[in-house]
Amino acid sequence: MKSQLKPPVILILGEASVSIAHQIQMALPDSIEYGLTGRTQSVDLTFSKFSQTVRELFSQGHPIIGICAAGILIRALAPILSDKRAEPPVIAVAEDGSAVVPLLGGLTGANDLANSIANALNIRASVTATGQLRFNLVLEAPPAGYDLVNPEHAKSFTSDLINGATVRLIGKSPWLSQGNLPFSLDGTHIIEVIESDRSIDRSSLVIDRTHLVYLSTPTQGKLAIVGIGPGAAKWMSPEVKSILQSATDLVGYKTYLNLVGNLAKGKQIHESDNRVELDRARHALDLAAEGKSVVVVSSGDPGIFAMAAAVFEVLEREAKPEWQKIDIQVAPGISAMQAAAAAIGAPLGHDFCAISLSDILKPWEIVAERITAVAQADFVIAFYNPVSTQRTWQLTAAIDILLKYRSTETPVILARNLGRSGEEVRVISLSQLTSEQADMRTIILVGSSQTRTIPRSDGRVWVYTPRNYQGISEH
Ligand code: SAH
Repeated sequence: MKSQLKPPVILILGEASVSIAHQIQMALPDSIEYGLTGRTQSVDLTFSKFSQTVRELFSQGHPIIGICAAGILIRALAPILSDKRAEPPVIAVAEDGSAVVPLLGGLTGANDLANSIANALNIRASVTATGQLRFNLVLEAPPAGYDLVNPEHAKSFTSDLINGATVRLIGKSPWLSQGNLPFSLDGTHIIEVIESDRSIDRSSLVIDRTHLVYLSTPTQGKLAIVGIGPGAAKWMSPEVKSILQSATDLVGYKTYLNLVGNLAKGKQIHESDNRVELDRARHALDLAAEGKSVVVVSSGDPGIFAMAAAVFEVLEREAKPEWQKIDIQVAPGISAMQAAAAAIGAPLGHDFCAISLSDILKPWEIVAERITAVAQADFVIAFYNPVSTQRTWQLTAAIDILLKYRSTETPVILARNLGRSGEEVRVISLSQLTSEQADMRTIILVGSSQTRTIPRSDGRVWVYTPRNYQGISEH
C-alpha cells in the first residue's frame, strides 16, 4: 500500500523566493511555507537550521519543495535515505522559477508533484526518470485507488518495456490508458486490473515478472460545481483552480469554459447552450456516475443564479440509483454583485438582496411582487440578468416599481464585463436608468434610501451604504 503523505512543505531561503513560493502554494493549497528566520517575511512558519529542518520534515513524511540549489537538499538528506518506497518526494526549484527538478521520491509521486509545480510556473519540469518520460506514468507508483499486488516485479517489467516489450491490458484503467504504454493485443507482457472492493487472496492470482496485477477500488465518480468568479484569473479561488486541475471532464457554457484558459487543457470538454441548464446538470451527473471527475463551470458563484441549484434539482427529481454514490462538492466563487460593489466602494454595506430579472424560470408576477416588497423594505437590490436580446421590458417595469418607493436621486451602479475585457462601471441616478443602458453582461445595483456617494479627486465617485442608521451609534 502507498504510505499516506503529509502536506508538502515549501522551504524558502530568502525574500527573493517568496513570490515563487506563493505561486507554488496557489497550485498546492494544502502546502505550508517555511522561511529562513531573519531572511524571509510573510511566510506561514519559520526555521533557523536548514539541514536539521529538512531532515525532520522528510522523516515525518512531508514532501519537500526547496527553493534552492539541488545540492543543498542532496547533502542534507543523503545520510538518512533508506526506503525509496516510503520516503516522500523531494523537489528542487530554482530561485527564479526557471527549473523544477524532482530529486527523490519517484515512487511516491515526485514526478506528478513536479509537473503540478512546473505548470503553476508555466515551465516544464526537468523529469529524469525514464519510465515517467517514456510512459508518462510509473508502474511502481500507481495513484490512490490502485494497489499493485506484485511490486517486486515492477522494476524488471518496466525495463522490459523500455527495451521493446509490449503489453496487453486486461481490465479497465483510466490511469493506465492515459499513459503512453506500448499496448498491443498480443503483447509479450500483461497488466491486469481487477476491480474489487473486497481484498483478494494473492495465491488465487496469476503473477510473475511479465504479469503485473493491480487491485483497483471501483472508481467513485466526482462532481464539483465550481464558480470561477466574474472573469479575471485573480478572482478564481485556489480551491477552484485545484479542482479544475484534477478534473477529467468539464461541463459548461462555452464563454465560461474559455475563461478557464490553460486549466482546461487535456480535459474532455462538454460545451452546451446556456439555456438548457437541467440537461447539462443531468449530463454532468451521468458522466460522474461513469467514474469520471466532472467539473461543472459557472461564472461568479455557482450557487447564485447558476448551475449548483440545477444539479440538486435534477438529483432530487430524477433520483437515478447510479447517481447516489457520486461525491458531490460545491466550490464558491466571487459573485458579480461582489465584484461590482468592490469596484465602486461598499454599496452592499447594509441589508441587501439579489433578484434575477429573467422570467425564463419564474413568472413575471412573482418577480414584480418581490421587487415591490424589497423596494418597500428599503433593501439595496442587485439585479442579475437585467435584460437580454429578447427581453427588455422587465427592467423598464422594474424601474417603474422602484420609482414608487425610492427617490429619483437614488444611486444606481451599472457594472459591465467585470474582470473581463471591456470592463465598465458607471454610477447614475435612478431617474436616468433605462433598459438601453444594460445587457446580459451587466449587473445593476440599486441603492437604498441610505446609500450615499462621495466625490473623488478625479471626478468619479465612491458609493457606499452605511452600516449605521443616522442617530444610532455603534456602541
Ligand atoms: N453565478 C453568477 C450569475 C449568473 S447569472 C454570479 O454569481 O455572478 C448571469 C448574470 O450575472 C448576468 O446577466 C449579469 O447580470 C451577471 N454577471 C455575471 N458575470 C458578470 C460580469 N463579469 N460582469 C457583470 N455582470 C456579470
